[in-house]
Amino acid sequence: MRILIIGEGGRESALAAKLQKDNRVTKMFFANGNASTDAIGQNVHMSDIKELRDFAIKEKVDLTIVGPEAPLVAGLKDEFKKHDLKVFGPNQKVASLEGSKAFSKKFMQTYDIKTAKAVVFDSYNEAKEYVQTQEYPLVIKASGLAGGKGVVICDTLEEAEATIHDFMIRRIYGDAGIRLVIEEYLQGFEASIIAFSNGEKIFPCIAAKDYKKAGNGDKGPNTGGMGSVAPSPEFTAEHTADFEKNILEPTLTGLKAEGFSFKGIIFFGLMVTKNGTYLLEYNMRFGDPETQVLMALMENNLLDVINDCMNGKELDLKFKDEKAVCLVMCSGGYPGNIETGFEITGIEKAKHSQVLCAGAVKKGDKIVSNGGRVMNVVATGATYDEARKKVYEDALHVHFDYSFYREDIGKF
Ligand code: AMP
Repeated sequence: MRILIIGEGGRESALAAKLQKDNRVTKMFFANGNASTDAIGQNVHMSDIKELRDFAIKEKVDLTIVGPEAPLVAGLKDEFKKHDLKVFGPNQKVASLEGSKAFSKKFMQTYDIKTAKAVVFDSYNEAKEYVQTQEYPLVIKASGLAGGKGVVICDTLEEAEATIHDFMIRRIYGDAGIRLVIEEYLQGFEASIIAFSNGEKIFPCIAAKDYKKAGNGDKGPNTGGMGSVAPSPEFTAEHTADFEKNILEPTLTGLKAEGFSFKGIIFFGLMVTKNGTYLLEYNMRFGDPETQVLMALMENNLLDVINDCMNGKELDLKFKDEKAVCLVMCSGGYPGNIETGFEITGIEKAKHSQVLCAGAVKKGDKIVSNGGRVMNVVATGATYDEARKKVYEDALHVHFDYSFYREDIGKF
């Protein structure tokens, strides 16, 4: 099989590392890939959907796996399908469950999926009037894709008014912020469930925990993810039952009723409160860095799982009875201004973990940083502490100037 993986993060490195072990995979292409994927297959530099389609035709690609959301929301599946190219992921309409928070909130409300109460606004004046009548904190979300930055938790009315102004008038996220979802604030802990859809049923993986804040103890600004663990130690069997009954099952009902059935990934971003488990958002692709820990624990052959989904077969997902920890090593300054181009050394000295490149590329015979989240260090163990110890010991070997990482990933 010839496989094209779209994306360039640690998630794509983890998927590639898993698929690499399969001798049915004869060639892997990555658009645009990173230094890890470069060692496994061929990196190609393109992101335009038509260019990717032409490449997939020319290279006789059998299967395309899409890492990030943007290509799916832009209609990659629809374009590929016209040419009988197989894509593991939904079409543009279904990808709107991630691409438009207004659309997904309406879907959740229509199918009684447990979620925060929310109202959608297209009018600046109406949004401003509404926030004067609400309790705080209040959550204001840009409906469109804003690179993970379009959600603001407002503690005061002044902050809410300023956010509405930033999104709708100043348009700091362009068209993504001209429609808003304003919703009640939920207090609790978060969990991520990545699930495989075979077009008929949805098969969830074990719950993972993502560390979103830049600093130790969940302090500082939001990021793309500073680390992850699986299974989530907080998400109990009781939460799983609540999730299945109030979120998973009605989601499946909704997908079928709307004609949205698809073969690919559906990711549930959850908030667990004292009143139960709520759905914050859907992502219609693998999460990053949750995928890294799930791939470390998944016992199934990933290609079998994907093929079974594509063929509408039942899945029997199995995970090792161990704990996995993923540490994300970042460029100094992330998620704010960063400098890149620093050489990364010492990867080969890490003996107890899987070291994956994220924002790190080959330059001549060196590997250099080229993004905010640069390296992932992943390990498993019988306990979180055992996995943590391996990861943090190995992280000491991996060096690039001004790097930093959280010290408390997997510490419970
Ligand atoms: P979303 O993109 O909708 O998942 O939001 C991004 C992040 O904002 C979530 O992971 C939460 O940390 C936070 N968030 C979103 N909605 C809420 C809410 N209703 N209450 C509290 N926090 C929220």
